Amino acid sequence: MDFRFTEEQELLRSSVADFVDKEVVPSAAQIDEEGRFPDQLFRKVGELGYFGIRYPEEYGGWPGDYVMFALMCEELARGSMTLAGSVAMQCLMGTDFVYRFGTEGQKRRLLVPAIRGEKIGVIAMTESDAGSDLGAIRTTASPDGEGYVLNGRKMWVTNASLADFFTVAAKTDPDAGFKGIDMFLVERETPGVSLGKGIAKMGVRGLGTAELILEDCRVPAENLFGSEGTGFRNLQGILGEIRIMMGSLSLGLGRAALDAAIKYAQERIQFGRPIVKFQAISHRLAEMATNLEAARLLVYRAAWLLDQGQRDMRLASMAKLFASEMANHVADNACRIFGSYGFAMEYDAQRYFRDARFLLLGGGTSEVLRGIIAHEMGL
Ligand SMILES: Cc1cc2nc3c(=O)[nH]c(=O)nc-3n(C[C@H](O)[C@H](O)[C@H](O)COP(=O)(O)OP(=O)(O)OC[C@H]3O[C@@H](n4cnc5c(N)ncnc54)[C@H](O)[C@@H]3O)c2cc1C
Repeated sequence: MDFRFTEEQELLRSSVADFVDKEVVPSAAQIDEEGRFPDQLFRKVGELGYFGIRYPEEYGGWPGDYVMFALMCEELARGSMTLAGSVAMQCLMGTDFVYRFGTEGQKRRLLVPAIRGEKIGVIAMTESDAGSDLGAIRTTASPDGEGYVLNGRKMWVTNASLADFFTVAAKTDPDAGFKGIDMFLVERETPGVSLGKGIAKMGVRGLGTAELILEDCRVPAENLFGSEGTGFRNLQGILGEIRIMMGSLSLGLGRAALDAAIKYAQERIQFGRPIVKFQAISHRLAEMATNLEAARLLVYRAAWLLDQGQRDMRLASMAKLFASEMANHVADNACRIFGSYGFAMEYDAQRYFRDARFLLLGGGTSEVLRGIIAHEMGL
C-alpha cells in the first residue's frame, strides 16, 4: 500500500495552496460579509487553468486525475467555501453533461469558455417539493416538432443569478418515475427562462442561489443530453464523483477550522496559561484532528479508486457522510474553543460553522446517505 501523493499531485496542491494563501484567504471574510460572488477570483481560477482538470486538451483542459481535483477542492475550501463551491460546480455538475453528451458546437460555445472561467455553467435538479426525492420533480419537457418545450420551477440553483447555461432535470414521461427524467441544456438567453427571488442564506453567502423559472421554454432536440429515458442513469454516472467532491470540500473546511482553533488555543490566556494547556482543550483538538485524518483517508481512497476505474458508490457515500459530519463537528468544536469569540462575526470560526451546514445537503443528506450505504451493504 502506498498512501503518498504523486509528485504531480503534490505540485498541483502547492500551486493551489499558494493561490489560496495569497489571494483567497485575505478576501474570504469580505466575500461572506457582502454576500457577493467572487468574480475576480473565479476568473483567476480560469486563468490558472484549474477548471480544465480532467478535460481534454482540445477543449482547453489538461489530463489531471480525480485525486488532483479533490486536492484542488480541499485547498480552495480551506480559503473560501463560496469560491470552492462555485469552482467545484463549474468543474463537475455544471459542465459534465455538455462534455459527455453535448454536440461539438455546444462544447465549443459553452465548455471551452467555461474552462477559461469566462462562462458559468450550473445544474438545476431540485424543486420546492422534490429535494432528496428527485423522482418527484414536476418540471416537464414535452416533445414539440423539432425539439422540446420545458415548463417548471427549480429551487436552490447555485449561481443561477450568474449562470450562462443550465443543466436542467425535467420529465419527458411524467408517469415513468426515475426513468422519465432527462437532462437538458438550457441557455440563459433562451426565451421563457427567468429567475425567481434570490435565496438569503446563513452560509456560502456569496453563492448566487436562486429559483430558475421555465415557462414554455423551447429548446432544440440536440439540447437533450443523451437519449430519452437515460437522464437519471447518466446523472448517477457522476453521483459518486459529486459525493467525493463534497467530501474533499469538507476536508478543506475542517482543516481551516482546526488550524484556527489550534492558533487561538495557543494564544488565549486564562487562569495564567494558554487554554491549550488545559487537557479538556488539547483533547478536544486531538479528537478534531483524528476525525479529520480519518475523513481524509476515506475521501482520498474513494478518489483514488475512481482513478483506478472503480465506481464504488458505497465508499463514495461513506466518504461524503463521514467527511461532511466531521466538518460540522470540527467547526462546532472550533467555535467552542473560541468561547464568546466563536460567536463574534469578527472571527472566522463562525463562518466555518455556518458554511459547514452547506456540506450536509448537496450530494445527499446524511440520512439519505446512510440509507444508500445500508442498501449497498445488502441490508
Ligand atoms: C447552498 C445550497 C446549494 C444548493 N445547490 C443546488 C444546486 O445547484 N442544484 C440543485 O439541484 N440543488 C441544489 N441544492 C439543493 C440540495 O441538493 C437539496 O436541498 C438537498 O437535496 C435536500 O433536499 P431538501 O432540502 O428538499 O430536503 P428534503 O429532501 O425535503 O429532506 C428533509 C429532511 O428529510 C430527510 N429525508 C428525506 N428523504 C429521506 C429518506 N428517504 N430517508 C431518511 N431521511 C430522509 C433529509 O435527510 C432531511 O433531513 C442546494 C442546497 C443548498 C442548501
